Amino acid sequence: MRARLMSFVCLVFLQSPASAQLVPSWQNAVSADGKAAQQLIQSDPAHDELVRYINSTYRFPRKVPLIYTEAGKINAWYQGNSHSITVSYDLVVFLRKFFRAKGVANPDQRTRETVAFILLHEMGHALIHELDLPAVGREEDAADEFAALMATRAVGDRGKNMAFTAAEWFGLMGRGIAKMEDLEFWDEHSLNSQRFYKILCMIYGSNPAATEEVVKPLVPVTRLMTAKKRFPQKVQRWDRLLSSHLLNGRALPLHPILPEPANPRQISFQNEVKSGGLLPVSELARIQQFQKVVGWLNRSYSPPKHLYAKYMVTDVPKNFFLPLTGNIILSKPFFDSADSRLNHLKAAEKFETLKALETFSVLQEFSRGIIEDAKLPITGEPEDAAAELAMLMVIRHPEYRKLAEPLGRWYKVLGNSKENVLQLNYWSESALDQQRYYDLLGYLHVAYPQQFPHLSGLFSPKRLAKMRYEYQNKRRNWWRLLQPFGTPI
Ligand SMILES: [Zn+2]
Repeated sequence: MRARLMSFVCLVFLQSPASAQLVPSWQNAVSADGKAAQQLIQSDPAHDELVRYINSTYRFPRKVPLIYTEAGKINAWYQGNSHSITVSYDLVVFLRKFFRAKGVANPDQRTRETVAFILLHEMGHALIHELDLPAVGREEDAADEFAALMATRAVGDRGKNMAFTAAEWFGLMGRGIAKMEDLEFWDEHSLNSQRFYKILCMIYGSNPAATEEVVKPLVPVTRLMTAKKRFPQKVQRWDRLLSSHLLNGRALPLHPILPEPANPRQISFQNEVKSGGLLPVSELARIQQFQKVVGWLNRSYSPPKHLYAKYMVTDVPKNFFLPLTGNIILSKPFFDSADSRLNHLKAAEKFETLKALETFSVLQEFSRGIIEDAKLPITGEPEDAAAELAMLMVIRHPEYRKLAEPLGRWYKVLGNSKENVLQLNYWSESALDQQRYYDLLGYLHVAYPQQFPHLSGLFSPKRLAKMRYEYQNKRRNWWRLLQPFGTPI
């Protein structure tokens, strides 16, 4: 017994440098339900395994208490000023009741798995802030991505079950919402149904052959193809973000690709839309706007590879970036269809909205290009990262800023075209138009409250306070990622 105890002590000593780690602390629950919840989680061997894995893998700059307590609210949270994670027994009680009410098999085991996933999600927040990682996009998505990555990579099949169960939980909660006005598009979290798909895509990407039987009937096949391709990229990006904080490992450069000052790269613009005679005025204005934005990008950034912006007739009405050739494709059918969708607007409003869309489209596809070509270690999906970067460029630029509200109008038109909750593409790689609308106008307001005071009415004071903080973080993190390539945000 004594020998065994000794070896245990040595193991603990070897695995955890005494200074800095996650330190669980179990505060005794008072209510009967709370006591049962405490017992359920405290006796879960997977919980210890997760904490041990994190503590034997990453070096924290300070101790991070992991507090279990009866908090009187159903939640789990990371708190930056106290550098701690709190999980409430109330959340555990809620989950138990939820799984029982839904008639899910093994509700206690499902509760343990969901709590473990939530714990990993909070660890994601903790790592981002404690290690000061340049996370971009919605931090909540980054935390889910980290949790799913850890669950599928670190703790074997048990981890996969944690991720599956968490997805199931989000799926069940998402299905409970039937009205459009009950969806919280302005919130910092993705919608429950989006989280359901995001986690399933990570599970599938981690091992398509072993998981396709369960995942394939639930997710559109094209989305799964992207998930499979992106999973190894996500692994690499997180490895790069975390590598300098590993206890045993080699630090990788944050920027594996740097510009060559002797051979600066540019974006060139080409109009490939053939015209029999003179171009109509609207077409000329569109081309001039593209040229103007490309000119600004060239004065502001040195991309790692040459980029070729081409305005052309495409088969699909969609703008896109082709990484192999460096082509930014600006689709004439896309802008033409936008033009006709905006016919209900007054002429001046329509003109502004189209100009905003043209400007934003170039910035967004350029952002996509620099993310891919510079191999930036973004968190979340590249579509969302590119939209965020382009949004920041629009907000920061004194002239493009005037186009932010017209761009919001465009998102509003797209959002209004969906009549009910069943029409929303929850599985898409991109955020929903309604989410882009609130993000753009909310960050615009917090960046320039005196210029755009009227936008505060779209949000609660609590959300606005959070957005102020998020906006500064986003700018700082993009600045760090883009610094070698120019940083006019
Ligand atoms: Zn969170």
